Amino acid sequence: MSARILDGKSIAAEIRREVQIEVAAITAQTGMVPCLAAILVGNDPASATYVQKKAKACKDAGITSVRIDLPADLPEASLLHEIERLNSDPTVHAILVQLPLPPHISERRVLGAILPEKDVDGFHPSNLGGLLVGNPLFVASTPLGILELLNRTNVVIEGKHAVIVGWSVVVGKPTAFLLLQHHATVTICHIKTRDLAYHTRQADILVVAAGKPGLVTGPMVKDGAVVIDVGVNRLADGRVVGDVDFPEVAQKASLITPVPGGVGPMTVAMLLKNTVDACRRLCGVIRPSGDAPVPSDKRTMAQP
Ligand code: NAD
Repeated sequence: MSARILDGKSIAAEIRREVQIEVAAITAQTGMVPCLAAILVGNDPASATYVQKKAKACKDAGITSVRIDLPADLPEASLLHEIERLNSDPTVHAILVQLPLPPHISERRVLGAILPEKDVDGFHPSNLGGLLVGNPLFVASTPLGILELLNRTNVVIEGKHAVIVGWSVVVGKPTAFLLLQHHATVTICHIKTRDLAYHTRQADILVVAAGKPGLVTGPMVKDGAVVIDVGVNRLADGRVVGDVDFPEVAQKASLITPVPGGVGPMTVAMLLKNTVDACRRLCGVIRPSGDAPVPSDKRTMAQP
């Protein structure tokens, strides 16, 4: 079998056009322009590039973005103060803190200081907890992007066995819960998992987010599996590759994301979508079609 490419770049472009239309509608209705504030602490070039990309995507969609550059030796209290200022600024609807932070600053305290209603990265404990019970205000952009990729290519999730490699708060865990809420049977693997290949071979949907180039090879994948490669690894020769051996796995999968051009563009698109949602919610604008909550198993959890 030769896999069809899950083209994140073109699906993300479609979402970005939709966001642009929604931004124009919100502005026409309220006079407000959605605004994302991005905080960058220190001079890490990769982080600066990510923030730049997000700012450009905002601009293209008609979203205002404010970039706040802070020095690497900034005391944690000053960063918390800055977040407090943005929390109470009614012209700022969305706040993100680019990770990683310098080691003297607690990511947990900083992310927990962002108002959940402006937490478009979905890392605030109340949004992570909301995902667990099926009603988060925001879900992190990468897991949301993965779900959107699957939905927009008509991949059936319900009843499928999804195997996630990696259990980070940024990717692995929220992806697992999203897929679970869409009624997949979910296995989470990690660095201590014994016989990784045994688990990956069971996957109808395989999501790999380990940050290890070439971790998943052809023999580790079931024929016809849908393979989502989240990994972004820069090799010594400058090439950027995922965690999946693309040429080998593409021979077995039915659908596969390339790196670059798969999950990455979806992450940016979903951040824009979250920013617009934040603005809508804070300005009290209802989407014409209504809000679609993350589905949950209503037999086990009543919605508040
Ligand atoms: P992380 O380092 O926080 O987590 C990696 C996870 O992989 C851990 O849970 C670890 O247990 C697991 N792991 C590592 N080696 C393993 C192995 N040999 N076998 C099984 N499990 C193993 O990383 P993260 O933040 O989740 O990111 C993962 C990858 O995804 C990175 O390459 C990162 O750059 C990329 N990423 C991409 C996007 C995007 O938008 N495309 C967004 C976020 C992260």
